[in-house]
Amino acid sequence: MTDTLSTSERSRAMAKVRSADTKPEWIIRCGLHRLGFRYKLSDKSLPGTPDLVFPRYKSLIFVHGCYWHRHANCKDASTPGSNTEFWLKKFAENVRRDKSKVRALRKLGWRVLIVWECELTKCTTFTIRKAAHWLAQGISSKPVPLPLGELNRRTLLAVAEAKVRNRLSNY
Ligand SMILES: [Zn+2]
Repeated sequence: MTDTLSTSERSRAMAKVRSADTKPEWIIRCGLHRLGFRYKLSDKSLPGTPDLVFPRYKSLIFVHGCYWHRHANCKDASTPGSNTEFWLKKFAENVRRDKSKVRALRKLGWRVLIVWECELTKCTTFTIRKAAHWLAQGISSKPVPLPLGELNRRTLLAVAEAKVRNRLSNY
């Protein structure tokens, strides 16, 4: 369906897509769901509208794109060669905003985890299991084992891609 859209129509459609529906976000949603975790999406009542909210665990997860959120020491967080000063300022603002969101949420008693796009696309199952482990620790004072359950990287990536495609074809 989207093949019939012109470039400008497509970019308008892209702009309408909530940032909450990116591929890395679908990857972690599907993975954690498969491991038995249930969540709420993009809770606007909380500072910074966290991507995934786990009320039972009093925990939140943000899925950050490496480029815009400036993943430290990541090759996906490059800096444009022209207009560099402008971009550095913009990036610094993004980082500052992210930090203040996390601070505000922690003050409200939430545990906060940042998961990076590159981790989700490259070390998919490990990153999801690590997040699941971190969540489980939120309601246990004893050490918890890494949650088991079927996770397949190729399946998760394929599901996430299909979700993003379906979403785009709705416009
Ligand atoms: Zn990264």
